[in-house]
Amino acid sequence: MRTTTAIPPSHTKRLVHTAFGWYAMTREQSDLGPFASQQEASNALSRHIRVYRGVNIRGDGAAHSGLSLHDSASCRKSNCALCAEAHVLRQTLVAS
Ligand SMILES: [Zn+2]
Repeated sequence: MRTTTAIPPSHTKRLVHTAFGWYAMTREQSDLGPFASQQEASNALSRHIRVYRGVNIRGDGAAHSGLSLHDSASCRKSNCALCAEAHVLRQTLVAS
């Protein structure tokens, strides 16, 4: 399936849409974002990968692998897309 965007397929599962905007998840201490559009987040991720190429030790990725519920309490990231999303979910639950 073709799309009109320039977002690489390898990026799509690392781009997360939250109530704050789009985040790009990284293996580093801080995720990138929020950005106004998925395209901006993708661009930022491309730049990030260029900067960190060769520096990055390939991890197992288990900490942020999606399906399991993200544990914000034990998360050590300083700017985390999944924590931002979890925060919004909590606010929504409290409000309703
Ligand atoms: Zn987190």
